[in-house]
Amino acid sequence: MGQTTRVTHLECSLCRKRHAAGQVHNLCDCGGPLLVRYDLEQVGQGWSREQVPQGPHTMWRYAPVLPPERESSVVSLGEGMTPLVRAARLGQRLEADHLWIKDEGLNPTGSFKARGLSCAISMCVELGIRKVAIPSAGNAASAMAAYAAAAGLEAHIFMPRDVPQANFIECKAFGARVTLVDGLISDCAKIVNAGAKTEGWFDVTTLKEPYRIEGKKTMGYELAEQMGWELPDVIFYPTGGGVGIIGMWKAFHEMEALGWIGSRRPKMIAVQVEGCQPVVRAYERGEERSQFWENAHTVASGLRVPKPLGDFLILEAVRASGGTAIAVSDEELLDAGIDLATGEGMFVAPEGAACVAALHKLRASGFLRRDEKIVIYNTGSGLKYLEAYSTRFPRAGAGEQDKLGGLITPR
Ligand SMILES: *Cc1c(COP(=O)(O)O)cnc(C)c1O
Ligand SMILES: [Zn+2]
Repeated sequence: MGQTTRVTHLECSLCRKRHAAGQVHNLCDCGGPLLVRYDLEQVGQGWSREQVPQGPHTMWRYAPVLPPERESSVVSLGEGMTPLVRAARLGQRLEADHLWIKDEGLNPTGSFKARGLSCAISMCVELGIRKVAIPSAGNAASAMAAYAAAAGLEAHIFMPRDVPQANFIECKAFGARVTLVDGLISDCAKIVNAGAKTEGWFDVTTLKEPYRIEGKKTMGYELAEQMGWELPDVIFYPTGGGVGIIGMWKAFHEMEALGWIGSRRPKMIAVQVEGCQPVVRAYERGEERSQFWENAHTVASGLRVPKPLGDFLILEAVRASGGTAIAVSDEELLDAGIDLATGEGMFVAPEGAACVAALHKLRASGFLRRDEKIVIYNTGSGLKYLEAYSTRFPRAGAGEQDKLGGLITPR
């Protein structure tokens, strides 16, 4: 850090226009999300992959490829360096001999959103922003509320009214101003957009803010480090806004430019749900952009994004990697989540469970071979989704003990 030329500029992912570093940005004038570009040649001269383990045991060990210029800007709660767990028992059952689960549920606020918001809020501190606002399906709100609290910023949060209880309570506890909206995340986004103009909030909407993606890309760096700088053959990623896929894809290019990995890429599998699958539909139709998914519904609230802003970037990564896009039902993902918990002792978010269900399908169809090295991203903790899982484990009410089991009255 402290090398002022590391970030050279921000580049529009649509029209390629250059934007100056060190300034407050949202989207490009053309509507395209901005990507942070670094002088990787210079970065590589002062930093090697062998030096990475000397850094902190958080995602900030990758600080030379993260945007803050000043170390004092960094707002960290210990995000990143999540475990990569070998899932041998599940692998045996699905006939996948080399299967790992990257457990992002162990991040602060229980999801990988901590990575993006740690980076975004750090940049708010660096750029002097005092008020932030976000539309969220839940976990991004929790993470933003936490990092805003840690940084002493004012946080405004808009979530659909049926957001998981954990997210609502967390945001309130972190002292954020929370508004529940009778609508979808896209409706929440409109309110934030308006408030940015009238209230002076900085809009931290997915991809409208250039730095969340930088935090999330550390999932790609970290996976390479944990696998001995050798990427797996396949990555399953539960895709809502797609920032994780876009970020990891960016990380792979950066690591290749640094000479840390070769040109081989994992097949990127974008996993969605039957009740909201705009990316799968666009993939199947061979289209570059997705179409708004009407009446989006699923218990995997992080996947309820009817029209991802970065759809073209997701589709590009999936296609260039030789991967695919696939949807599973809520029933399938809940089954898979409980199966995983029973078999491996990991209680994952429905989004992560969707990937397990998708692996099941892609092994059954023969799309994947049993000898491929497969990594599933579990993006959140199952503990944040008690409403979703409780449909499978109803508790006995008065007089129902015998029917539902579990409750006894001691004599
Ligand atoms: C937000 C979220 C997702 C979707 O993430 P993207 O990277 O935006 O596609 C998946 N799982 C969980 C638990 C989430 O909170
Ligand atoms: Zn542009």
